[in-house]
Amino acid sequence: MSRKLLLANDHIPGIQSYEVYRSNGGYRSVEKALKTMSPDDVVEEVKKSGLRGRGGAGFPTGMKWSFLAKPEGVPRYLVCNADESEPGTFKDRYLMEHIPHILVEGMITSSFALGANTSYIYIRGEYFYVARIVEKAIAEAYANGWLGKNILGTGFNHDMYVQVGGGAYICGEETALLESLEGKRGNPRIKPPFPAIAGLYGCPTVVNNVETIAAVVPIVNDGGDEYAKIGIGRSTGTKLISASGNINKPGVYEIELGVPVEEFIFSDQYCGGIANGKRMKACVPGGSSVPILPDYLVCKTAAGEDRLMTYESLSDGGFATGSMLGSGGFIVYDENQCIVRNTWNFSRFYHHESCGQCSPCREGTGWMERVLHRLEKGMGNMSDIDLLVEVAKKIEGNTICPLGDAAAWPVAAAVRHFRHEFEHHVLHPDKVKDPKHGHREPIMPVKPQPVTA
Ligand code: SF4
Repeated sequence: MSRKLLLANDHIPGIQSYEVYRSNGGYRSVEKALKTMSPDDVVEEVKKSGLRGRGGAGFPTGMKWSFLAKPEGVPRYLVCNADESEPGTFKDRYLMEHIPHILVEGMITSSFALGANTSYIYIRGEYFYVARIVEKAIAEAYANGWLGKNILGTGFNHDMYVQVGGGAYICGEETALLESLEGKRGNPRIKPPFPAIAGLYGCPTVVNNVETIAAVVPIVNDGGDEYAKIGIGRSTGTKLISASGNINKPGVYEIELGVPVEEFIFSDQYCGGIANGKRMKACVPGGSSVPILPDYLVCKTAAGEDRLMTYESLSDGGFATGSMLGSGGFIVYDENQCIVRNTWNFSRFYHHESCGQCSPCREGTGWMERVLHRLEKGMGNMSDIDLLVEVAKKIEGNTICPLGDAAAWPVAAAVRHFRHEFEHHVLHPDKVKDPKHGHREPIMPVKPQPVTA
């Protein structure tokens, strides 16, 4: 049975409330940190834990914290990125909705470590009801002495605020989020300077994802070494995975990093296998912006080794035969799903969400969307397929923020692994106009055969 750290008390009735959360060990990490540790001790434990950012990039959290500038007389800020908008990703919503106090607790403990007396939780606009839940948890924390002046008599002061976003995906990018938090249009900033030097209101700022901040609670409670014992290699601890698509048991799962992908998809403990007895066709393991994998690369790497739910194993083979753990938005496709339509759908999203600051992203996402649309409708031609690849190449690495890459990678990967399906749309337009937006007949991936002399 996989160990749970963040969702360990998820089954307890009323765990959303302060009383039940506290009576089940809640806020211990704040007591421990403020009364028995220095801020540097807390940073050290996070470094020892090997915790990596759970928002998608996977950057080591302790290292990110240690970059924070500490000029005299200048405030520092902790900002929680709760702008979860990546298609296929809904694990932060689950955590905030069901155990909001673990986020508030993690925010206080992390703020103590960073020397931040003010923190913000920036929540996606569509999660307005979740914002109310988190606001209630913050009010309860104030009422019980965990926030405000002189917390636990230690002299540490901290105020926490919730800010609801306007519903723009780009505000999940940390500098766009800071712009939005300052009341401006959410355009990503050119880096450097990075937020650790000049973030919110020009002051040193750490921006961390909801799950990352919540993970600080068990790390401080049990020690960084204990946390690092879970997982494999540089993928330590547990990870929340939001599983969706054609599986029997969609939902949010907390896994120990290192679980085989095959076990995650097919065991009853997790996804319970492919729905309706169909075959698995493909999988997007880390949210809509990571490369799609065809069935034969989902559970095994190109070298034939078991693919594991870790940062390293999911990216094994680079983009040629691998993908990314990303945000943990795990989407499974069965044999009837149309990869061309799915890719067009993602492209449409990125085109809509592009802030428009840089031309490769602003124009390229529009080109890809239009080309994919005509291919999907059976009105494209063979040269459109190569055009897609060319446009994706022109975007990748040439933009201010990662949205450009996020738009380009899924398109490039879809053509790389499913070219025959794109060609099918060109050659057999009559067979792709299925009322359910799929194909009349299942089209499975074609595994490349080794070239023999
Ligand atoms: Fe805006 Fe796209 Fe450029 Fe990011 S990559 S700054 S979203 S135009």
